[in-house]
Amino acid sequence: MLNIDLHCHSDVSDGLLPPAEVVARAAANGVDVLALTDHDDVGGIEAARSAAAAAGIALVAGVEISVSWGGQTVHVVGLRVDPRSAALAAGLQEIRRGRIERARRMSDDLARAGIRGAYEGAYGYAANKQMIGRTHFARWLVAAGHAPDVRAAFRRFLTRGNPGYVEHQWTTLENAVGWIRASGGSAVLAHPGRYPFNARELHLLLDAFRALGGIGIEVVTGGHHPSEYGKYADLARAFGLRASRGADFHAPGEGVDIGRLPHLPHYCVPIWQGWPELDALLSSSLA
Ligand code: AMP
Ligand code: MN
Ligand code: MN
Ligand code: MN
Repeated sequence: MLNIDLHCHSDVSDGLLPPAEVVARAAANGVDVLALTDHDDVGGIEAARSAAAAAGIALVAGVEISVSWGGQTVHVVGLRVDPRSAALAAGLQEIRRGRIERARRMSDDLARAGIRGAYEGAYGYAANKQMIGRTHFARWLVAAGHAPDVRAAFRRFLTRGNPGYVEHQWTTLENAVGWIRASGGSAVLAHPGRYPFNARELHLLLDAFRALGGIGIEVVTGGHHPSEYGKYADLARAFGLRASRGADFHAPGEGVDIGRLPHLPHYCVPIWQGWPELDALLSSSLA
């Protein structure tokens, strides 16, 4: 069975490794097909593609788009997108611009709590100065001695109700799915178990997502406890959505490693069913 991991991050967003090192780690972990899905940026795809060709694994061009829906932040993964798509590029650039403005407000809020220099500090942890996020703030807060580790930095700061958390308007679900589809990609709802929605709200989200042309949800992901896989596999089936699998890897030693997670439940329809890049892999493994 192929090891297919369709969700991970490089230092183009809030991962720690450059794209080529993410790909090398995937290959070392036995991954056959990898999607690089950086937050709101496709700038790592080209380097990842070259590294994948060298390592002999298949690279799927991906992205994870930040969306506001139902008063919460929701993530939509785009798979097999065209990184040169003008509509996608313009949309992502606008989101990244918003991130810079949000970072100023986060820093101001931390300053009101007595923590100064967070804006400059966080940027010191952003390899891509166009893509600043809460994880960069968390890494700086740890280094500056305000929290013992990244998880604690999120718990004490950066989350709703705590210093450094500011409300932010991301793009709409309609825009995110629309840009992904306009670039030829498939829209997948990321880690549905991570949102603070009740069952009714989640069903509304899945209905809206599907009506806009979304076709998949993540079932087996580093963002789900293994006890949740069955629930989201059942939801995928009930809503006629395909299932995806991805570690949501960010850094060695943090969370699930690339490719190191269970396969999809057997009754799922995988998001990759019918992808031509898998034909080549399957036939070469038979040759
Ligand atoms: P942002 O898109 O800048 O708001 O940052 C969201 C990212 O922060 C996620 O993709 C995770 O990588 C990270 N994150 C969010 N919540 C936590 C948490 N509680 N602990 C550790 N990392 C988190
Ligand atoms: Mn992240
Ligand atoms: Mn996410
Ligand atoms: Mn992610």
